[in-house]
Amino acid sequence: MLIAIDGPAGAGKSTVARAVAAALGFTYLDSGAMYRCVALAELRGHPDPLGAAIGLGERITLEGEDVSTAIRAPEVSERASEVAARPEVREALVAMQRELIASGDYVAEGRDIGTVVAPGAELKVFLTASPQERAHRRAVQIGADAGQVLREQTVRDARDATREHSPLAAAPDAVEVDTTGRTREEVVAHIVALAGER
Ligand code: C5P
Repeated sequence: MLIAIDGPAGAGKSTVARAVAAALGFTYLDSGAMYRCVALAELRGHPDPLGAAIGLGERITLEGEDVSTAIRAPEVSERASEVAARPEVREALVAMQRELIASGDYVAEGRDIGTVVAPGAELKVFLTASPQERAHRRAVQIGADAGQVLREQTVRDARDATREHSPLAAAPDAVEVDTTGRTREEVVAHIVALAGER
């Protein structure tokens, strides 16, 4: 079974997807981390960023080095949304994602899991929250100023939503879940119940 969790930055995808995977005994796939690794490899001047070895698991690795923290830096977020607009990058990473999710039960989070990577996913969730709440959460997470995060987030949201290739959008059959003002537990229980109905 595949549960696709898509939505904008800061909607709570990672926290929720991880918890849903743990509750159901599924494997968690963070597709954004893959785009972030390609971006980091590029920023570091790697000769072949798309060919760099990415390790997904408890820790994210790039060429064997733990980059779990490094890939969350603001300049990597910015570059990730740029590299994600390039068709050759999307094509390569989508192929890797399809191969992974075909290997078992997954909760995969991203922007295009339910629309492009796996339109046949048994459950598609489009997770949202107000822009202010999303910026606030990210600011707390990375220890930055919420106003600054909100400004950067607005630029990335616009780029993700208007890019030519796989713009961020909910699949027509996705269940929209707004996490504004709801606890993680409430949201996770809601999605686990939806999964139980499929
Ligand atoms: O989810 P996260 O913030 O880690 O994603 C980083 C960037 O990667 C996003 O801004 C987005 O541009 C891109 N991305 C994407 N498709 C995905 C996952 C992430 O385009 N499935």
